[in-house]
Amino acid sequence: MRIFDPHVHMTSRTTDDYEAMAAAGVRAVVEPSFWLGQPRTSPGSFADYFDALIGWEPFRAGQFGIRHFATIALNPKEANDPRCREVLELVPRYLDKDAVVAVGEIGYDSMTPLEDLAFAAQLALAVEYDLPALVHTPHRDKQRGTQRSLDVVKESGIDPGRVVIDHLNEVTVELVRDTGCWLGFSIYPDTKMSPPRMVELLRRHGTERMLVNSAADWGRSDPLLTRATGEAMRAAGFSDDDVDGVLWRNPVEFYGASGRLDLSDADAPADFAGNSIKRGGA
Ligand SMILES: [Zn+2]
Repeated sequence: MRIFDPHVHMTSRTTDDYEAMAAAGVRAVVEPSFWLGQPRTSPGSFADYFDALIGWEPFRAGQFGIRHFATIALNPKEANDPRCREVLELVPRYLDKDAVVAVGEIGYDSMTPLEDLAFAAQLALAVEYDLPALVHTPHRDKQRGTQRSLDVVKESGIDPGRVVIDHLNEVTVELVRDTGCWLGFSIYPDTKMSPPRMVELLRRHGTERMLVNSAADWGRSDPLLTRATGEAMRAAGFSDDDVDGVLWRNPVEFYGASGRLDLSDADAPADFAGNSIKRGGA
């Protein structure tokens, strides 16, 4: 099983995680820039974090044969902090980098006017830099937040086929499925989606434009839940080709729109025995 995790915060994970992910078939990841738990107090902290996402973290991933790409943005939560507003001026510098395959995570946390401004400004950057956009949907008031996000995406004029609306569930999937946007699902141990619930959604809505991620971060989460979802799909009667479509070809197509997704040597034919075929790096 070859796996591309389209949303995982590796900065908060250990080398044990990288090792287990590689063994489970994970060959590529996208790490979206996001809140780090502790509020940042100056734009310089963001610059150092963004540099780590395109420098140090790809190096760490490479040691386990995993390709690492990033998305860059001022996240919705910290868009509310006036000390962080200048980050919006810092973002374009990173959108020129080869390792950056989308603008994100953007969207809403509490749906404030400052979040509106940062969201719209960064969708405009995605259009200007011809990059896909990763939209985080809020954990509170999710249905209203998802609808409002879709409205802002529409107003921005960005091609919906270059936007993923992430952290969806059984309720919000209905709002997004006919919009032309990609549908992102975060599989978590306790909250959000579980592998069986995800399989049920794939059965109901098909595998097209569906992205499955672990969204693993510093909280209770599990970067192997992409693999667990692939196994749950197989157990439910999906073909190996369906599994490969959801866990590999879909994220490759979505982020490939950036024109920067270099997966040479990483996308060899799937090994359905469950082992990664090729382990590059040091
Ligand atoms: Zn995230």
